[in-house]
Amino acid sequence: MENKSLKRNLLKSLPGVDHIFTQIQKNKFNDNIPKSVIIDSIRTYIEKLRLSILSNINLSSKDLDDSSIISEVNTLIEKTLAPNLKKTINATGVILHTNLGRSILPDEVLNNITAVSSGYSNLELNLSTGKRGLRYSCVEDILCKLSGAEAAMVVNNNAAAVLISLETIAKDKQVIVSRGELVEIGGSFRIPDVMIKSGCILKEIGTTNRTHVKDYENAITDETGLLLKVHTSNYSIVGFSLSVTLNELHRIGQKHKIPVMEDLGSGTFIDFSKYGLKKEPTISESIAAGTDIVTFSGDKLLGGPQAGIIIGKKKIIDKIKENPLARALRIDKMTLSALEATLNLYRDEEKAVKSIPTLKMLLIPFSKIQEKAERLNDLISDTGSTKIATVLLTKNSKAGGGSMPLLKLKTKCIGLKSDKLSADKIEKLMRANNPPVIGRIEDNLFVIDLRTVKEKEFPIIAKAVKKITERI
Ligand SMILES: *Cc1c(COP(=O)(O)O)cnc(C)c1O
Repeated sequence: MENKSLKRNLLKSLPGVDHIFTQIQKNKFNDNIPKSVIIDSIRTYIEKLRLSILSNINLSSKDLDDSSIISEVNTLIEKTLAPNLKKTINATGVILHTNLGRSILPDEVLNNITAVSSGYSNLELNLSTGKRGLRYSCVEDILCKLSGAEAAMVVNNNAAAVLISLETIAKDKQVIVSRGELVEIGGSFRIPDVMIKSGCILKEIGTTNRTHVKDYENAITDETGLLLKVHTSNYSIVGFSLSVTLNELHRIGQKHKIPVMEDLGSGTFIDFSKYGLKKEPTISESIAAGTDIVTFSGDKLLGGPQAGIIIGKKKIIDKIKENPLARALRIDKMTLSALEATLNLYRDEEKAVKSIPTLKMLLIPFSKIQEKAERLNDLISDTGSTKIATVLLTKNSKAGGGSMPLLKLKTKCIGLKSDKLSADKIEKLMRANNPPVIGRIEDNLFVIDLRTVKEKEFPIIAKAVKKITERI
């Protein structure tokens, strides 16, 4: 009986929406918040209090104070207005992490995006003739210069580049691909599926580990429209293996008058063997081998924005530009401005490796990562928390994003451990931080890999750790 009347009293003392709204509006700082967001947040919170009372959750009269309600409503408003897509700290050590946005962009590139997209631009206006121009023309010359190709165009991503190229060159015809190259890229890009979508007929040849010149020769018929080579960018076949080189494919193509295309995936202009890493096939080499069409991503090893780049023979590129799919898959001006600025950095390779974050993180010496790890470790220790211990670990990081699958880059990490919290729990709390800190779990530790963490993110990580220890 008493309980019932207590409940009734608590329900009665819940303030009205209007009352809280007036209080919140008194604060000048809230002038820019949309009214609807304030009202929705107040309704949501008061309803939550009402349900708590009804389900006997212990509430004190303090919880129903205006000031307490206003503070909770303000938190809700903040949550509603904060963007869902937000800055996140990549402590995984995976440089091209598709879930975390792959490449991060250099300052030169960001400045160009702002310059081009904060006003009007000559996106499809030829400034010398005053007539309509093509949106790809701003990057065509530089792409040809860097690769040695005759012509170039760009679309939304490399999956789109492969799709439109296949559809243009070989719709209703057979496309010959080695069984060792029937790649699947994360997020459901599979060569056999793209083949179907583009209206081409996949003709598999050879075996998983070995494909010979004669396999191509024997498969060619009047129905053949294209010889396709796919760079096995995210896996490697080692041991007793053989594949046909681009030079040989070009020779076969010439002999039978069939074009050759290469899907490079993680295309690069840099010969990584110069920097002590294993060589990846370069874009220029593919063109030099006589390949008719080469496609690659803008945001993998190139280190630019998401884009699909198509380069090669002018006769074919012109047809691709006229394909109605080009309109559906077209790239937007922010991306184009980012891509042009990224490509411009490659005019000077020394500058490119210094200013493109993807390349910098790939090539950073171990000693530098070690220094970073020590500095962050000191900063975490300075917070004085004894409930979470840190250990410095030597481990390996990965290129990621379906690039350089066998590459192990020696790196330095900080492992966090606690008697009170499991690694899983620490991972969850770091992920819930604002901004989120995404690490990995190894050997039952939450591991922060310094390869992908920026110096200016150190205080944020130290603070996040401190916040966790205060909760324990
Ligand atoms: C990554 C990749 C793709 C897909 O490229 P996106 O830019 O992610 O669309 C296609 N083919 C190969 C070989 C790749 O490595």
